[in-house]
Amino acid sequence: MARFDGKVVLVTGGTRGIGRACAEAFVREGAQVAICGRNQETAESAAAEIGEGVKGYACSMDDPVAVKALIAAVATDLGPIAVLVNNAGITRDGLLMRMKDDDWHAVMETNLSGAFYACRAAARDMLKQRYGRIINLSSVVGLHGQGGQANYAASKAGLIGFTKAYAQEVASRNITVNAVAPGYITTDMTADLDEATLKILTGRVPAGRAGTPAEIAAAVLFLASEEAAYITGTVLSVDGGLGM
Ligand code: NDP
Repeated sequence: MARFDGKVVLVTGGTRGIGRACAEAFVREGAQVAICGRNQETAESAAAEIGEGVKGYACSMDDPVAVKALIAAVATDLGPIAVLVNNAGITRDGLLMRMKDDDWHAVMETNLSGAFYACRAAARDMLKQRYGRIINLSSVVGLHGQGGQANYAASKAGLIGFTKAYAQEVASRNITVNAVAPGYITTDMTADLDEATLKILTGRVPAGRAGTPAEIAAAVLFLASEEAAYITGTVLSVDGGLGM
């Protein structure tokens, strides 16, 4: 029997990068997986590539009405969600004194409010099932900050407080809520960095290299597994030692 046989898993923003690696890993381990992205066609074709039976939905995580509808649609199509991976995230970097309101709000709404909307919408089914695993994708930047990313750092630090608070509310119902804090991971999000910047950044990583989406997925699957049943409200750094 595979680790996630029969479990319904929703990975927000699973069309590429870390979310996609999580979706692929859950599928390999027997889960019924749903992903979402902002574009219906992209979400559907990514789902088809990830595996048979994977469902792709269009949903922008900054829209509470759409997120509620997403959670309901997954429950109708696959069954009530057992594992929720709040992965969808964006950056809108810039120095604070020049940061536009829109760049602040877009990052906060997608990265932080999106997780809130999804957890709230999934809560009833998780409480009814007396089972749930929630994993929020934070960041080393949420723990330590990063110049030029005040909005992103605030959203990722906010996710840590959110994780710890919600974990306390639902622990007695066999629902765990944890965060994973990746370091520099090779995805589209970090693809825009030029060679020189990347060299400086990876030079700061004790492991001496960027991480891979699969390495983050391994941590997410662990926190979603039965073996992690007694772990809640924690932040698991997966960063090659960057945040030490
Ligand atoms: P990518 O940019 O590669 O992928 C982002 C994913 O989020 C895509 O699937 C995208 O889907 C989706 N997405 C973006 N905005 C929305 C939205 N409003 N609604 C729904 N989906 C959305 O990012 P990564 O894979 O690198 O990052 C995944 C998570 O890990 C993020 O939360 C990120 O902050 C975090 N992280 C990443 C690190 C890294 O070094 N890469 C380091 C630390 C944390 P689509 O475009 O199809 O809408």
